[in-house]
Amino acid sequence: MTDSTTRATARSIDGKSIAREVRQAVALRCAALAARGQPPGLAVVLVGDDPASQVYVRNKDKAAQEAGFQVRTLKLDANTTQAKLLSVVEELNRDRAVHGILVQLPLPRGLDAAAIVRAIDPRKDVDGLHPENVAALVLGSEGLFPCTPLGCIELCDRAGARLAGRRVVVVGRSMLVGKPLALLALARDATVTVCHSKTADLPAVCREADILIAAVGRPEMVRGDWIKPGATVLDVGINRLPDGRLVGDVAHAEALATAGAITPVPGGVGPMTIAMLLANTATAAQRLSAPGV
Ligand code: NDP
Repeated sequence: MTDSTTRATARSIDGKSIAREVRQAVALRCAALAARGQPPGLAVVLVGDDPASQVYVRNKDKAAQEAGFQVRTLKLDANTTQAKLLSVVEELNRDRAVHGILVQLPLPRGLDAAAIVRAIDPRKDVDGLHPENVAALVLGSEGLFPCTPLGCIELCDRAGARLAGRRVVVVGRSMLVGKPLALLALARDATVTVCHSKTADLPAVCREADILIAAVGRPEMVRGDWIKPGATVLDVGINRLPDGRLVGDVAHAEALATAGAITPVPGGVGPMTIAMLLANTATAAQRLSAPGV
């Protein structure tokens, strides 16, 4: 028997179909709100003409409309001033038909993204980036949390990867992915290790993980022999190779031989990000539409 025939192959975690299920559940929540005369509204603000941002905004707009949100996309030109953008955000904060506000990042040079995010009403901050929501995540209180990390937790749940009591290793410590993900996993009673570019002997730390999550932005950095046999691997990375191929942060073909389950790239974590954005918007709409708010 050859080596390849004796190797196990990891189960693929199908982010596309899990995301579809999440979006269907969100559509039901939207329909319930609409039936009460409170159709949930999402405002998406796009500044400038960055091609990647245009694609992201188009995808979010489409997915939100399909789920039953009233979507308002505001396109502002690249010369928009900080004051103008702030006034747009403030108007959306006041608008009772808008429950979620998303300002597509990155913003053109010259605009202060952190100040814009701070200006968003935290109850409408569906990207979960406002400092009040970051604090809520740390404190374990009610808030809105970043979509990609929420998507990773949802994938674990739906793929049957229990978090409580298990060792989770997150590679990457960005405010968008690594840090919030570590806090969400901790809130679910995982034992969490966060790694970064200065971590000593990264392969050895990764090998301790029952659930290994790579959010680095380095093509195929995590090798197959960094993975504990049977571990669940979530690959957040999206990297375009010079030949045009899209790969994750994990060497997928190698990982298949060691992992118990793994997300593909594309079609793993990616689709979950928009699904969780919609879930956050439905949550914001439910909270803002509650009696007395
Ligand atoms: P950042 O560049 O903000 O953060 C990267 C992190 O990786 C940093 O914490 C950095 O460490 C760490 N890192 C870099 N090099 C190494 C190394 N050699 N060893 C260990 N750690 C390292 O990226 P993001 O968190 O925003 O995104 C990460 C990846 O996820 C990207 O590929 C991005 O495209 C993708 N992504 C995918 C999304 C999706 O929907 N699927 C959504 C968001 C992001 P240090 O802090 O020390 O510099």
